[in-house]
Amino acid sequence: MASVTLEGVTKSFAGLTVVQSVDLAIAEGEFMVLVGPSGCGKSTTLRMIAGLEETSGGTIRIGARDVTQLEPRERNIAMVFQNYALYPHKSVRENLAFGLKMRGTGKAEIEQRVARAAAMLKIEPLLARKPRQLSGGQMQRVALGRALVREPDVFLFDEPLSNLDAKMRVHMRDEIARLHREVGTAMIYVTHDQVEAMTLGDRICVMKDGVVQQVGRPLDVYDRPANTFVAGFIGSPE
Ligand code: ADP
Ligand code: MG
Repeated sequence: MASVTLEGVTKSFAGLTVVQSVDLAIAEGEFMVLVGPSGCGKSTTLRMIAGLEETSGGTIRIGARDVTQLEPRERNIAMVFQNYALYPHKSVRENLAFGLKMRGTGKAEIEQRVARAAAMLKIEPLLARKPRQLSGGQMQRVALGRALVREPDVFLFDEPLSNLDAKMRVHMRDEIARLHREVGTAMIYVTHDQVEAMTLGDRICVMKDGVVQQVGRPLDVYDRPANTFVAGFIGSPE
Protein backbone atom coordinates (compact mmCIF):
# COMPACT_ATOMS: atom_id res chain seq x y z
CA MET A 1 0.00 0.00 0.00
CA ALA A 2 1.23 3.48 -0.76
CA SER A 3 0.24 7.06 -1.23
CA VAL A 4 0.70 8.91 -4.52
CA THR A 5 1.92 12.50 -4.66
CA LEU A 6 2.00 14.79 -7.68
CA GLU A 7 3.92 18.05 -7.41
CA GLY A 8 3.78 20.54 -10.26
CA VAL A 9 3.18 17.75 -12.78
CA THR A 10 3.04 19.19 -16.27
CA LYS A 11 2.77 17.79 -19.80
CA SER A 12 3.20 19.55 -23.12
CA PHE A 13 2.81 18.07 -26.57
CA ALA A 14 4.61 20.07 -29.28
CA GLY A 15 4.55 23.24 -27.18
CA LEU A 16 0.91 22.87 -26.16
CA THR A 17 0.42 22.37 -22.41
CA VAL A 18 -2.32 19.81 -21.77
CA VAL A 19 -1.62 19.16 -18.06
CA GLN A 20 -0.57 22.20 -16.11
CA SER A 21 1.27 22.09 -12.81
CA VAL A 22 -0.97 19.55 -11.09
CA ASP A 23 -0.51 19.21 -7.31
CA LEU A 24 -2.41 16.28 -5.87
CA ALA A 25 -1.90 13.97 -2.90
CA ILE A 26 -3.72 10.64 -2.83
CA ALA A 27 -3.56 9.04 0.61
CA GLU A 28 -2.82 5.39 1.30
CA GLY A 29 -6.00 3.45 0.68
CA GLU A 30 -7.84 6.42 -0.79
CA PHE A 31 -10.16 6.23 -3.82
CA MET A 32 -9.48 9.37 -5.88
CA VAL A 33 -11.48 10.16 -9.01
CA LEU A 34 -10.12 12.46 -11.71
CA VAL A 35 -13.17 13.89 -13.44
CA GLY A 36 -13.72 16.45 -16.17
CA PRO A 37 -14.85 16.84 -19.77
CA SER A 38 -13.22 15.00 -22.66
CA GLY A 39 -9.79 16.40 -23.53
CA CYS A 40 -9.10 18.02 -20.14
CA GLY A 41 -5.98 15.92 -19.50
CA LYS A 42 -7.25 13.10 -17.28
CA SER A 43 -5.75 10.20 -19.25
CA THR A 44 -2.46 12.05 -19.75
CA THR A 45 -2.21 12.61 -15.99
CA LEU A 46 -2.93 8.93 -15.31
CA ARG A 47 -0.45 7.80 -17.97
CA MET A 48 2.26 9.94 -16.37
CA ILE A 49 1.55 8.30 -13.01
CA ALA A 50 1.79 4.88 -14.70
CA GLY A 51 5.01 5.88 -16.47
CA LEU A 52 3.46 5.36 -19.92
CA GLU A 53 4.01 9.05 -20.69
CA GLU A 54 7.04 11.13 -19.68
CA THR A 55 6.43 14.26 -17.65
CA SER A 56 7.47 17.64 -19.03
CA GLY A 57 7.91 18.89 -15.48
CA GLY A 58 7.20 18.11 -11.86
CA THR A 59 7.62 15.14 -9.55
CA ILE A 60 5.60 11.96 -8.98
CA ARG A 61 6.07 9.98 -5.77
CA ILE A 62 4.67 6.61 -4.73
CA GLY A 63 5.04 6.46 -0.99
CA ALA A 64 8.38 8.15 -0.33
CA ARG A 65 9.85 6.93 -3.63
CA ASP A 66 10.42 9.43 -6.46
CA VAL A 67 9.25 7.43 -9.49
CA THR A 68 9.26 10.29 -12.01
CA GLN A 69 12.09 8.77 -14.07
CA LEU A 70 11.25 5.10 -13.50
CA GLU A 71 10.00 2.65 -16.11
CA PRO A 72 6.36 1.50 -15.73
CA ARG A 73 7.39 -1.97 -14.53
CA GLU A 74 9.51 -0.42 -11.77
CA ARG A 75 6.56 1.50 -10.30
CA ASN A 76 4.47 -1.41 -8.97
CA ILE A 77 1.26 0.01 -10.37
CA ALA A 78 -1.53 -1.83 -12.19
CA MET A 79 -3.67 -0.09 -14.79
CA VAL A 80 -7.10 -1.16 -16.08
CA PHE A 81 -8.10 0.16 -19.49
CA GLN A 82 -11.48 0.56 -21.12
CA ASN A 83 -10.63 -1.85 -23.94
CA TYR A 84 -9.52 -4.57 -21.43
CA ALA A 85 -6.41 -5.46 -23.53
CA LEU A 86 -6.76 -9.21 -22.84
CA TYR A 87 -4.60 -11.67 -24.80
CA PRO A 88 -7.12 -13.16 -27.25
CA HIS A 89 -5.43 -16.56 -27.68
CA LYS A 90 -4.84 -17.20 -23.98
CA SER A 91 -7.38 -18.62 -21.56
CA VAL A 92 -8.66 -16.51 -18.69
CA ARG A 93 -6.35 -18.43 -16.34
CA GLU A 94 -3.35 -17.72 -18.60
CA ASN A 95 -4.38 -14.07 -18.92
CA LEU A 96 -4.32 -13.77 -15.15
CA ALA A 97 -1.04 -15.64 -14.75
CA PHE A 98 0.93 -14.20 -17.67
CA GLY A 99 2.18 -10.95 -16.11
CA LEU A 100 3.33 -12.80 -12.99
CA LYS A 101 5.11 -15.44 -15.06
CA MET A 102 6.97 -12.70 -16.93
CA ARG A 103 8.08 -11.25 -13.59
CA GLY A 104 9.46 -14.61 -12.50
CA THR A 105 6.89 -15.30 -9.78
CA GLY A 106 6.96 -18.95 -8.69
CA LYS A 107 4.33 -21.41 -9.94
CA ALA A 108 2.71 -22.11 -6.57
CA GLU A 109 2.54 -18.40 -5.75
CA ILE A 110 0.93 -17.69 -9.15
CA GLU A 111 -1.68 -20.41 -8.63
CA GLN A 112 -2.49 -19.06 -5.20
CA ARG A 113 -2.87 -15.47 -6.39
CA VAL A 114 -4.95 -16.47 -9.44
CA ALA A 115 -7.27 -18.53 -7.24
CA ARG A 116 -7.66 -15.69 -4.76
CA ALA A 117 -8.40 -13.10 -7.48
CA ALA A 118 -10.79 -15.44 -9.28
CA ALA A 119 -12.71 -16.02 -6.06
CA MET A 120 -12.84 -12.32 -5.24
CA LEU A 121 -14.20 -11.49 -8.71
CA LYS A 122 -16.37 -14.62 -8.98
CA ILE A 123 -14.77 -15.72 -12.24
CA GLU A 124 -13.73 -19.25 -11.25
CA PRO A 125 -16.15 -20.84 -13.79
CA LEU A 126 -14.55 -18.77 -16.57
CA LEU A 127 -10.91 -19.74 -16.03
CA ALA A 128 -10.73 -22.17 -18.98
CA ARG A 129 -12.48 -19.84 -21.45
CA LYS A 130 -10.94 -17.63 -24.11
CA PRO A 131 -11.74 -13.88 -24.15
CA ARG A 132 -14.04 -14.25 -27.19
CA GLN A 133 -16.27 -16.54 -25.11
CA LEU A 134 -16.84 -13.80 -22.54
CA SER A 135 -19.41 -11.00 -22.26
CA GLY A 136 -18.27 -7.40 -21.83
CA GLY A 137 -18.86 -7.52 -18.09
CA GLN A 138 -16.95 -10.79 -17.78
CA MET A 139 -14.01 -9.37 -19.75
CA GLN A 140 -13.98 -6.42 -17.41
CA ARG A 141 -13.80 -8.76 -14.42
CA VAL A 142 -10.87 -10.59 -15.98
CA ALA A 143 -9.12 -7.27 -16.64
CA LEU A 144 -9.67 -6.38 -12.98
CA GLY A 145 -8.37 -9.81 -11.97
CA ARG A 146 -5.22 -9.29 -13.96
CA ALA A 147 -4.56 -6.08 -12.06
CA LEU A 148 -5.42 -7.72 -8.74
CA VAL A 149 -3.00 -10.67 -9.04
CA ARG A 150 -0.10 -8.24 -9.31
CA GLU A 151 -0.83 -6.93 -5.80
CA PRO A 152 0.21 -3.42 -6.84
CA ASP A 153 0.78 -0.43 -4.55
CA VAL A 154 -1.76 1.54 -6.57
CA PHE A 155 -4.55 0.75 -9.06
CA LEU A 156 -5.16 3.10 -11.98
CA PHE A 157 -8.40 3.01 -13.99
CA ASP A 158 -8.99 4.89 -17.24
CA GLU A 159 -12.73 5.01 -17.95
CA PRO A 160 -12.95 1.24 -17.37
CA LEU A 161 -16.73 1.06 -17.75
CA SER A 162 -17.28 3.10 -20.88
CA ASN A 163 -17.67 0.05 -23.15
CA LEU A 164 -20.43 -1.48 -21.03
CA ASP A 165 -24.18 -0.95 -21.29
CA ALA A 166 -25.86 1.21 -18.65
CA LYS A 167 -27.00 -1.64 -16.43
CA MET A 168 -23.66 -3.45 -16.45
CA ARG A 169 -21.92 -0.14 -15.83
CA VAL A 170 -23.77 0.35 -12.56
CA HIS A 171 -23.11 -3.26 -11.59
CA MET A 172 -19.37 -3.07 -12.28
CA ARG A 173 -19.15 0.30 -10.55
CA ASP A 174 -20.41 -1.39 -7.38
CA GLU A 175 -17.96 -4.26 -7.93
CA ILE A 176 -15.04 -1.82 -8.13
CA ALA A 177 -16.22 -0.12 -4.93
CA ARG A 178 -16.40 -3.53 -3.22
CA LEU A 179 -12.94 -4.44 -4.50
CA HIS A 180 -11.58 -1.21 -3.07
CA ARG A 181 -13.09 -1.97 0.31
CA GLU A 182 -11.63 -5.49 0.25
CA VAL A 183 -8.08 -4.77 -0.92
CA GLY A 184 -7.78 -1.32 0.68
CA THR A 185 -5.19 -0.13 -1.84
CA ALA A 186 -5.11 3.42 -3.24
CA MET A 187 -7.04 3.73 -6.50
CA ILE A 188 -7.01 6.56 -9.02
CA TYR A 189 -9.99 6.43 -11.32
CA VAL A 190 -10.53 8.56 -14.43
CA THR A 191 -14.01 9.28 -15.76
CA HIS A 192 -15.93 12.02 -17.55
CA ASP A 193 -19.11 10.82 -15.80
CA GLN A 194 -19.92 12.94 -12.76
CA VAL A 195 -22.35 10.36 -11.34
CA GLU A 196 -19.60 7.72 -11.39
CA ALA A 197 -17.25 10.22 -9.76
CA MET A 198 -19.73 11.15 -7.02
CA THR A 199 -20.51 7.49 -6.28
CA LEU A 200 -16.99 6.08 -6.22
CA GLY A 201 -14.70 8.80 -4.96
CA ASP A 202 -13.54 9.28 -1.38
CA ARG A 203 -12.47 12.54 -2.99
CA ILE A 204 -12.78 13.86 -6.52
CA CYS A 205 -10.39 16.07 -8.46
CA VAL A 206 -12.21 18.19 -11.05
CA MET A 207 -10.10 19.19 -14.07
CA LYS A 208 -10.61 21.61 -16.92
CA ASP A 209 -8.12 22.38 -19.71
CA GLY A 210 -5.29 20.60 -17.88
CA VAL A 211 -5.79 22.58 -14.68
CA VAL A 212 -7.18 21.26 -11.39
CA GLN A 213 -10.26 23.26 -10.48
CA GLN A 214 -11.13 21.69 -7.13
CA VAL A 215 -10.27 18.69 -4.97
CA GLY A 216 -12.61 17.55 -2.23
CA ARG A 217 -15.13 15.07 -0.97
CA PRO A 218 -17.97 14.61 -3.49
CA LEU A 219 -20.68 16.23 -1.38
CA ASP A 220 -18.43 19.12 -0.35
CA VAL A 221 -17.64 19.82 -4.00
CA TYR A 222 -21.33 19.51 -4.86
CA ASP A 223 -22.40 21.83 -2.02
CA ARG A 224 -19.55 24.31 -2.34
CA PRO A 225 -18.21 24.35 -5.91
CA ALA A 226 -15.05 26.47 -6.27
CA ASN A 227 -16.24 28.19 -9.44
CA THR A 228 -18.99 28.27 -12.06
CA PHE A 229 -17.29 25.58 -14.13
CA VAL A 230 -17.35 23.09 -11.25
CA ALA A 231 -20.91 24.07 -10.37
CA GLY A 232 -22.03 23.46 -13.96
CA PHE A 233 -20.10 20.25 -14.43
CA ILE A 234 -20.88 18.50 -11.14
CA GLY A 235 -24.40 19.88 -10.89
CA SER A 236 -25.48 18.99 -14.42
CA PRO A 237 -27.45 15.79 -15.08
CA GLU A 238 -25.73 12.86 -16.82
P1 ADP B 1 -8.97 13.22 -21.40
O1 ADP B 1 -8.49 11.88 -20.98
O2 ADP B 1 -9.37 14.09 -20.26
O3 ADP B 1 -10.07 13.13 -22.41
P2 ADP B 1 -6.35 13.45 -22.61
O4 ADP B 1 -5.40 13.41 -21.47
O5 ADP B 1 -6.51 12.22 -23.40
O6 ADP B 1 -7.76 13.99 -22.10
O7 ADP B 1 -5.91 14.61 -23.61
C1 ADP B 1 -5.65 15.93 -23.19
C2 ADP B 1 -5.20 16.74 -24.39
O8 ADP B 1 -3.93 16.29 -24.81
C3 ADP B 1 -6.14 16.63 -25.57
O9 ADP B 1 -6.24 17.89 -26.18
C4 ADP B 1 -5.44 15.63 -26.45
O10 ADP B 1 -5.74 15.87 -27.81
C5 ADP B 1 -3.97 15.93 -26.18
N1 ADP B 1 -3.11 14.75 -26.35
C6 ADP B 1 -3.20 13.59 -25.65
N2 ADP B 1 -2.24 12.74 -26.05
C7 ADP B 1 -1.54 13.35 -27.02
C8 ADP B 1 -0.39 13.01 -27.84
N3 ADP B 1 0.20 11.81 -27.71
N4 ADP B 1 0.06 13.92 -28.71
C9 ADP B 1 -0.53 15.13 -28.83
N5 ADP B 1 -1.59 15.54 -28.10
C10 ADP B 1 -2.09 14.66 -27.21
MG1 MG C 1 -9.17 9.97 -21.53
